[in-house]
Amino acid sequence: MSFQKIAGQDAAVRILQDELKSGRIHHAYLFTGKRGIGKKTTAVEFAKALFCKDEGIDSCEKCLSCRKIEHKNHPDLIITGIEEGDSIKIDQIRELQRELSYKPFDGRWKVHIIEDADSLTPEAANSLLKTLEEPPQYGVIILLAEELDQLLPTVISRCQKIQFNPLSVKIIEAKLLEEGYQEEDTKLIARLADGSLGRAFELIKNEDFPAQRKKILERLYKISELDAVSIFRFVDELISFINDMDESSIFYLILSWYRDIILYNQGYYNEIINYDYLEQLKLSSQYYSLEELISIMELVNNIEGYIKSNVKKDLALQVMMFKIRAKKVK
Ligand SMILES: [Zn+2]
Repeated sequence: MSFQKIAGQDAAVRILQDELKSGRIHHAYLFTGKRGIGKKTTAVEFAKALFCKDEGIDSCEKCLSCRKIEHKNHPDLIITGIEEGDSIKIDQIRELQRELSYKPFDGRWKVHIIEDADSLTPEAANSLLKTLEEPPQYGVIILLAEELDQLLPTVISRCQKIQFNPLSVKIIEAKLLEEGYQEEDTKLIARLADGSLGRAFELIKNEDFPAQRKKILERLYKISELDAVSIFRFVDELISFINDMDESSIFYLILSWYRDIILYNQGYYNEIINYDYLEQLKLSSQYYSLEELISIMELVNNIEGYIKSNVKKDLALQVMMFKIRAKKVK
């Protein structure tokens, strides 16, 4: 895979190719943007082009160096990420520093990719800072992060920052079709992927997802009819779904329901994600005011944030569902 195969990140690729062309390579990069939009693929392609015997602005895909990267065994490309728990520990950064102290085996460069760099512990980040301040001449470190606010400002300022954008529904759908998935599935999944190809693949490979989605949307549609016991049961189901996949996908699905009701109300039918539920959306649109729908979306968004910061899932989701139930006018 060369730069040409990276979908929807033309601006980022152009910046990197300009650097390859001019030969002015930075020692540290920070790629930001949500999960599953091509940050890691682009970082690997950049390393491949840097190492390639062609020394052009893209890799040749044929030389030994390119083939080693393709087979994930190039000694000068090292990828680090979360190994245990939910953070990158100082020992991992020390290991990286030890690796980086050896000259490249093959060529002029040695590339370290750090995935989930927003999960560095403060000690790890501080230790990394020393390397960023005085990198070896052959060293290139590429940090991948979803959010900037979890990173030390001193780390950020040492890096060449490159922003990656969410992918369009069209691009995601084309990629899924390219992989041989059926059009009847790709259309919906591309819309539910929230701009992330990685998420689209997760959803389309998950055989349970269609049934889970159906359950969630039907419960939301009938939420005013659910008694307390049914709400608790619904939350238990949600938790089991969340344990099954990335929780953001579930929250995005819940958000999409209320967003769709707004879109239906305003007549933007083409923008609706859950287009197979038009009849239910139509009925729901008569029961909610715009203000209520917006406040439900804010609530869902906040609860997702609480859960990410380790608030008890069941309690937060119960509060959310009881509050949503109370919103319905009818
Ligand atoms: Zn090559």
